[in-house]
Amino acid sequence: MEAGHRSDPYREVGQPAQPTVCPDCGATVHGGRWTWQPAETGAKTHRCPACRRIHDRVPAGELTLKGPFLAAHDEEILQLLHHTEARFRDEHPLERRMTLQRDPDHGRMVVTFTGTHITHGVAAALLDAFGGTMAADWPEGGAPLRVRWSR
Ligand SMILES: [Zn+2]
Repeated sequence: MEAGHRSDPYREVGQPAQPTVCPDCGATVHGGRWTWQPAETGAKTHRCPACRRIHDRVPAGELTLKGPFLAAHDEEILQLLHHTEARFRDEHPLERRMTLQRDPDHGRMVVTFTGTHITHGVAAALLDAFGGTMAADWPEGGAPLRVRWSR
C-alpha cells in the first residue's frame, strides 16, 4: 500500500469564519457547522463543500440501482428516493443528491450525492422498504463511495 493516501479536497480545513453564507444554496455556518438557518447580516460568502462538489461535478458517493423489481416499480422507488434525500438534506446541508440518471429500458438507475452518509442512507432505506441486496465499496482517500442496490 502506498504511504499516505490522498486527502479529500472537499473536507474543510478549519472552520469557516462566522458569519458565513453559501452564495449558491444559502446554507450558513452556525456554531462551526453548515446549517439552513437564515444568514446573519454582513455574512461573508463562501461556497459550501456540497456546492463545490456540485460545481466541480465531483460526487462523494454514487448509488447504482438495478434489477427487474426496479424496472417494474420505478415510480415507488423514485418516491422513496426523493423522500429520503429530502430528510437528509433538511438535517444535513452537506448531504444532498447531485444527479439522477434513469435507464428504465435496462432496469438501471445511477444517483450521485455530495455526501457518503446520504449515499449509504438512501440504499439502506431502499433495503428497508423493498428488500433486495446491497453492497458498498469504501474507497481510500478522495474517491467516491460506491453503493449498489439490486432487486
Ligand atoms: Zn452551498
